[in-house]
Amino acid sequence: CGIVGYVGPRPSQDILLAGLARLEYRGYDSAGIAVIDEAGSLDMRKKAGKLAVLRDSLTDAAMPDGSTGIGHTRWATHGGPTDVNAHPHLADDDKLAVIHNGIIENFAALRDELTAEGVTFLSETDTEVAAALLGREYRASEDLQTAFRNVVNRLEGAFTLLAMHEDHPGLVVGARRNSPLVIGLGEGENFLGSDVAAFVEHTRSALAIGQDQIVAITPAQVTVTDFDGNPVEAQPFEVSWDA
Ligand code: GLU
Repeated sequence: CGIVGYVGPRPSQDILLAGLARLEYRGYDSAGIAVIDEAGSLDMRKKAGKLAVLRDSLTDAAMPDGSTGIGHTRWATHGGPTDVNAHPHLADDDKLAVIHNGIIENFAALRDELTAEGVTFLSETDTEVAAALLGREYRASEDLQTAFRNVVNRLEGAFTLLAMHEDHPGLVVGARRNSPLVIGLGEGENFLGSDVAAFVEHTRSALAIGQDQIVAITPAQVTVTDFDGNPVEAQPFEVSWDA
């Protein structure tokens, strides 16, 4: 029930875990993170249970440092709270990671379409369908932002959706429909969060993302468009909330 994304010069793991900890008040049953490491490959860990379970698993077997990352806490709606159903969900030979808060209402029809094309699913979640769809669209276009736009236009329901691909280190894409997402603006680094708590310890400078909008963040740049790819002006605001 919480989402955080990071691109910048710092190792993202601690930033993601701290952001998720600040979102804990929302309640959750599982947690996971993915990073693109310095060698350019995507690493992912996820666990049912409290953040402490995920942290312990990282202590036992550390993930490589990576400065592009996404993190998620889950409140299960489709599939029970298990390790496999936890997010991130991967696609495109585990090169692509997706996290999602909300419910994709038309996931069953999309899953049938993908299953008919030979896609197999590991989890019972609606989210993995979005990940698989993004994998298919990415292979078709080789462009993460085009593929992501194609995907969100096919999803019905409520979603805050974040994705990254190891072919594009330093880029996290996100979208929102009937579910919240905000941008945190840093110096040479940028953040995404389901609310400002995700990044408030790093920056108080934020951009509001409107309903049915897509965002792409790199360390140096933030772009916001509508679901057709037309640029939109995002509303800047200062986080005054005392965290
Ligand atoms: N519907 C998704 C799932 O059950 C996301 C739930 C959430 O908002 O955390 O995995």
